[in-house]
Amino acid sequence: MAKKNIVILATGGTIAGVGEAGANTGYVSGQIAGADLVAAVPEIADYANVTVEQICNVNSDDMTSEIWLQLRRRIDELEADAFVITHGTDTMDETAYFLSLTLHTDKPVILTGSMRPATAKEPDGPANLLGAVRTAAAFAVADDKPENNVWVYFGDELFDARRVQKCSASELQPMGVSFPGDTGEGSGLDCNGDGNFFDVASLTELPRVNVVYFAVDSDPRLLEYAASVSEGIVIAGAGSGEFSLAWSRALANIDIPVVMSTRINHGSVTLNAALSQAPDGVARVSAGTLPPQKAAVLLRLALTQTKNPAKLRRIFENA
Ligand code: ASP
Repeated sequence: MAKKNIVILATGGTIAGVGEAGANTGYVSGQIAGADLVAAVPEIADYANVTVEQICNVNSDDMTSEIWLQLRRRIDELEADAFVITHGTDTMDETAYFLSLTLHTDKPVILTGSMRPATAKEPDGPANLLGAVRTAAAFAVADDKPENNVWVYFGDELFDARRVQKCSASELQPMGVSFPGDTGEGSGLDCNGDGNFFDVASLTELPRVNVVYFAVDSDPRLLEYAASVSEGIVIAGAGSGEFSLAWSRALANIDIPVVMSTRINHGSVTLNAALSQAPDGVARVSAGTLPPQKAAVLLRLALTQTKNPAKLRRIFENA
């Protein structure tokens, strides 16, 4: 069978990181060009015809909605059977989720990266890159491709864009799922998030949403400040989406949409009574099983369509 044509879109991250020769830490992300990462893994040519496009070369903590939109646009524009995206691990879950909510394609899109820089003694990037290309090539021939086909390949494992999350700050396999045990089946949870689709083709940036993290004695002025610089807020609350009375009082006056999520990695959020006391017509929404950073991605996209409380709630129920 003819080899598939795969475009590798390089964005930076540790996989393109450079440090002291042989060292696993103390490096700078996003230094090596994607073309050089591919050239270092000649076996890739056994599985696919690959071309490389450099979208940016950043630490993924410097990812922006402008870059997301550019990445999405290039996937729309380029002729290919599948796409592999090299990306830093820190925000890979957010980029994967954004793409799964904004791409209408059955072409596989697979993100990968590494925990060790390219200059480490035993870098993990080459094996991850090869595995991602092999997986993308295999998915591209499947007869029955899902409409929404965004995945993270890491350490010989594949994760869907809806549930993938960086779960370890230091292990060689940092990826896991945000709510272990929830397969999505029968739960109304759509693994790759295609219960919602957002047409962002005409946009150059997304609405600003900030996540505010609650802990004992957290200053309610954090909420007020976040509201003053945002079009929507996500709260990473305690337990099933809880916070102090001081935060409840501050929140009652906040007149932009607020999504309640939890700082805990298991279980689902319910809307507590304090959150329901919103100014008239202002949305208060549960993030359900979405972790805070993904609730922020969904709220940014949802706000491109509506601020209506019932509509926002429906979008989060479909997530
Ligand atoms: N800070 C790096 C990044 O996200 C971490 C990594 O890639 O593993 O770009």
